[in-house]
Amino acid sequence: MKKDCVFCKIIAGEIPSEKVYEDNLMIIIKDINPQVKKHFLLIPKKHYANIVEMSLEEAVELGESLKTLSTLVDDLGLQDGFRLVSNKGGNARQTVEHLHIHILGGELLSDKMG
Ligand code: 5GP
Ligand code: ZN
Repeated sequence: MKKDCVFCKIIAGEIPSEKVYEDNLMIIIKDINPQVKKHFLLIPKKHYANIVEMSLEEAVELGESLKTLSTLVDDLGLQDGFRLVSNKGGNARQTVEHLHIHILGGELLSDKMG
């Protein structure tokens, strides 16, 4: 856990969140400021800033978490499709320096990616 990291605090239960899933590797919460009808964040429990700082072990665990996500699609109301996004750095407008994957769906998304 990193001091002053908002997602570490959410994982530790120090900041409340609307959690929709949790296991030993990750949590999935509702984004506090949803950009589309269904906007979740998949957040690994280990603190690392982004995929550039990710170790191979963390990459394997993230892969496991994505596989878990594939089993939750119906429960999350994403059966009509969804988009995964992970911002890294200033040009991507990353605001929280703890890796997270945005899960976007629940409606027809923009045809633009950037
Ligand atoms: P980024 O811009 O780093 O890719 O995304 C950070 C995301 O975290 C944003 O979509 C923002 O709304 C969300 N967020 C920031 N603080 C909180 C919080 O305290 N709770 C929840 N649920 N989401 C947060
Ligand atoms: Zn953190």
